[in-house]
Amino acid sequence: MDFEYKQKTNAERAKVEDLFDYEGCKVGRGTYGHVYKGKRKNRLNTDGREYALKQIEGTGISMSACREIALLRELKHPNVISLQKVFLSHTDRKVWLLFDYAEHDLWHIIKFHRSAKANKKQIDVPKNMVKSLLFQILDGIHYLHANWVLHRDLKPANILVMGEGEERGRVKIADMGFARLFNSPLKPLADLDPVVVTFWYRAPELLLGARHYTKAIDIWAIGCIFAELLTYEPIFHCRQEDIKTSNPYHHDQLDRIFNVMGFPQDKDWEDIRKMPEHGTLTKDFKRSNYVNCNLVKYMEKHKVKPDSKQFHLLQKLLTMDPTKRITSELAMKDPYFLEDPLPSQDVFEGKNIPYPKREFLTDDDDDKADTGASKAGGADQSSGHNQPPAKRVRVMPPSTVSSSMVSSDYQHIHNVQAQQALQFSSSNIQTSTSSTYTSRF
Ligand code: AMP
Repeated sequence: MDFEYKQKTNAERAKVEDLFDYEGCKVGRGTYGHVYKGKRKNRLNTDGREYALKQIEGTGISMSACREIALLRELKHPNVISLQKVFLSHTDRKVWLLFDYAEHDLWHIIKFHRSAKANKKQIDVPKNMVKSLLFQILDGIHYLHANWVLHRDLKPANILVMGEGEERGRVKIADMGFARLFNSPLKPLADLDPVVVTFWYRAPELLLGARHYTKAIDIWAIGCIFAELLTYEPIFHCRQEDIKTSNPYHHDQLDRIFNVMGFPQDKDWEDIRKMPEHGTLTKDFKRSNYVNCNLVKYMEKHKVKPDSKQFHLLQKLLTMDPTKRITSELAMKDPYFLEDPLPSQDVFEGKNIPYPKREFLTDDDDDKADTGASKAGGADQSSGHNQPPAKRVRVMPPSTVSSSMVSSDYQHIHNVQAQQALQFSSSNIQTSTSSTYTSRF
């Protein structure tokens, strides 16, 4: 490659450290890297707007990852966090993603309510807050699913809520598609960087070895989040300190699901027999151990009435058979959302926001996360069981979208947008023009 041209483009390429102040402002450490709160540097900072800068773990980026990121950049929906820009730092081969900054997330919100409940402290929130949150999550997921983007890792920490400002109280789904992007299933297991894995929101079909991610898997996770918003307890909480397996089959997690839901009847989930791990399931579990377990009982314990509309919707979301699980589109039309109080755009309904702002993390917090104590996001995150264990484990993720899921729609979007991505990569995405960035993910 022309050396002078390379030097010129390098000099022109916007650098994240030239444009943003973010040092000392780490607010989170997630599955794919570190998240910083950033502001544009002095003369560029005309509106005082805040951003989230995510530095992706590892180095380098493949062209296909570039195309995928460009595809994510095309997604525009009020309930989906918008990826504003991508920076490739040539000096250290780091990838930075720039997002809008969201002051809150459901992990922190739920944690706040849990400790208030434990201390018998009353928190004044709008009556329809949970309904508004759920509706907006479904709306965002419906948009993603309609564009054949599967989230694959929905959990409270990935559901952000905007703080004071123009978009006050609006839900933003974060990390969509990243599970596929940064945890490429095509790579041999040994090549995968260790990742932080949560099993609590994992659908039963995945735990039984389903080889493909589907929309229904995201819906199950939404059901888990809905239950957690109603009770402040992770519904399928499970101790899983020593996950050292590449096998998706997870006995204790399945046991927890059956303890809440009951063991599925053959008529309720006919295809369970076809699941890859069905043999292990019949060997390990006895239906008779779960005869007294059902969702009605579990939710009644948490004061959610079985004849309420919220319970009926929860049941439709947490349906064991993925083919019978409700879709996001139908869920949004559920009678729950037609009953007063109706959902609103600002989940806080203009009321005072009772939740604290994000704290900045220190390197000590990071070290704690490294030892598996917790996923970052606050000083005391290692306490209590409301945080999924952040064990660094190697897992073999189920395959990418199944071939049947890659509809012609998706292929079309993919092909057209991949071409566009390559075109606009020169202006918007700061891609490498050299061969330095090879398939390192
Ligand atoms: P993640 O890597 O997305 O799992 O995020 C790690 C932590 O950073 C979590 O606590 C997130 O809530 C937080 N975070 C992620 N994206 C943003 C954002 N756009 N604004 C503010 N915080 C974020």
